[in-house]
Amino acid sequence: MEFRKIQDLIRLAKNKKSSIGKIVIEFEAKSSEKSKKEIWKKMENNWRVMKQSIDHGLTRDIRPITGLTGGNAKRIANANLKIIDDTMKKAISRALSVAEGNASMKKIVAAPTAGSSGIIPAAITVTIEKLKIPEENAVQALFTAASVGLVIANNATISGAEGGCQSECGVASAMAAAAVVELAGGSPDQVGHAVAIALKNMLGLVCDPVAGLVEVPCIKRNVIGVVNALVSAEMALAGIESIIPVDEVILALDDVSKRMPLELKETACGGLAITPTGKRIKEKFIGKY
Ligand code: SF4
Repeated sequence: MEFRKIQDLIRLAKNKKSSIGKIVIEFEAKSSEKSKKEIWKKMENNWRVMKQSIDHGLTRDIRPITGLTGGNAKRIANANLKIIDDTMKKAISRALSVAEGNASMKKIVAAPTAGSSGIIPAAITVTIEKLKIPEENAVQALFTAASVGLVIANNATISGAEGGCQSECGVASAMAAAAVVELAGGSPDQVGHAVAIALKNMLGLVCDPVAGLVEVPCIKRNVIGVVNALVSAEMALAGIESIIPVDEVILALDDVSKRMPLELKETACGGLAITPTGKRIKEKFIGKY
């Protein structure tokens, strides 16, 4: 059993009348020569750490050593929001919480990277709570998300230094969208459309961390990543299709990555990093450390 493309996963799942998550568990067991139980245990552990990480900034005041960021997860969790509903509020605060925790050296699961680690935990936790889905399904959904990450890593990149933030927060958002569709009972085709839509929305997003720190804009980009994941999943579940097939979107991600200038690939030499404020922050920290 082989999969190089998302379409391979969709075909396998449809042929076996199964889900992408279940197909991936079988694949992982075969390729790693481990039992399904062992593989499940490992993913269950990731899920446990992810759940713990959503509390980092919600339950206490955490600040990175720079003092630049932090406190916003708690702020939005306690705010009386005017427009968006409670599910989205939870998604936003949890994504911020994990990302603030990452900046403060707390334990997170890189998914696919540390900088984008808030997106998948926030998307999955709000989905299982809203739909009253057992936790077991969340673990399975992580396999679905992981398979999307693996295909993208094999056909493009999941590194901000190679492909900009589209490859970190963009890919995390696509992985999360896949998980959400599967959790909500969507078809393998709908998983593919959700991945395509989520990724298309993030194409071209540059990596421009101020002072080279994974704080600004990274923490807030986790919010946009989770919102995009939930909205893309809802679109796919409603029957909206991506005109560009998912594997072609992944090729486009690769193309954009290759055309992106070095200044916008985690070098902190472009974009927000070289705004007057970005430069002042950099000078402050270079002076300090
Ligand atoms: S801006 Fe760069 S460092 Fe920050 S999350 Fe995005 S890819 Fe990672």
